[in-house]
Amino acid sequence: YAAKQRTEGPVVYDPAMDKSSAKSLSLLTELRNAAEGNQFRLHVQPKISLASGQVVGMEALVRWVHPERGNVFPDEFIPFAEQTGFIRILTRWVMERSAELCRELAGRGHHLKVSVNLSTRDLLDQDLPAKFADLLSRHKLGPGSFCLEITESAIMDDPVRAQQTLERLSAMGLDLSIDDFGTGYSSLAYLKRLPVNELKIDKSFVLNMEHDEGDTKIVRSTIDLGHNMGLRVVAEGIESEAVWRLLADLGCDQGQGYFMSRPIPADQLVPWLEKWQAPLAAAAVEGAVSY
Ligand code: C2E
Ligand code: MG
Ligand code: MG
Ligand code: MG
Repeated sequence: YAAKQRTEGPVVYDPAMDKSSAKSLSLLTELRNAAEGNQFRLHVQPKISLASGQVVGMEALVRWVHPERGNVFPDEFIPFAEQTGFIRILTRWVMERSAELCRELAGRGHHLKVSVNLSTRDLLDQDLPAKFADLLSRHKLGPGSFCLEITESAIMDDPVRAQQTLERLSAMGLDLSIDDFGTGYSSLAYLKRLPVNELKIDKSFVLNMEHDEGDTKIVRSTIDLGHNMGLRVVAEGIESEAVWRLLADLGCDQGQGYFMSRPIPADQLVPWLEKWQAPLAAAAVEGAVSY
């Protein structure tokens, strides 16, 4: 695993770090303090229907506001949180905050599905379905309010147990999505075997697709593959209107990206939704229905 370098903040997670090292112990302490000291923030990124421009959902993305280091991005601490098991605490926090947000939005007439990212450790937690059942009943939400994003590598860790957990979650009515599709250990066999509803094309194929024929071919084939398997196909990393149009022309169902919105603090979503009206969306759609 290579921790991505970012200009916005220092890299906290060093793959060379030994589990028992003093540095990693102090990071674990810091994560625990962060949970107690309310240093985690829920950001959300809108998920949009590419044909209509309508907002259909949002992805929950966690942020850590460190008192000294400032914003620490998930790529810098999620791998470590997974390694140490802290991720389960974090996932529960994200689930709780996402449910609260969903309920609040529903009260304002916005019925949006929230996508939550799960990691390997979450999938190995036999109590996860019960935790979701409890969450849904406490917040008076239907199972259709949640989509769970999983990566292929998370499934690979312990495929049998992961599949059992996923089947129970799916039977409860929660949506399942394969995140970052096309990267890592892609195994088409999992697509066949797992009860997934959605396939999310990794942003590395989307970011420059209007200038890269190879990317376009991969994206087109992935959309066709997903549709042939009866899945909803979502593209992440849409940074321009040109890419939106291209994806809409290729029949991609939904998308996320900086062109529509960066991930924003959860409490800014309602104002964003009120501003996100047809003009931009309608213009983009007009262009998209050129086929
Ligand atoms: P992901 O689930 O694949 O999320 C998509 C990432 O792409 C997010 O990065 C998002 O900010 C970024 N992104 C969205 N649109 C664009 C775009 O147009 N251009 C570019 N360049 N990037 C875009 P973020 O928020 O830094 O999260 C990184 C990864 O950390 C996520 O990838 C996910 O795997 C993990 N993560 C984030 N929050 C959570 C969480 O609550 N739990 C778990 N287990 N993992 C999380
Ligand atoms: Mg995701
Ligand atoms: Mg992704
Ligand atoms: Mg990703």
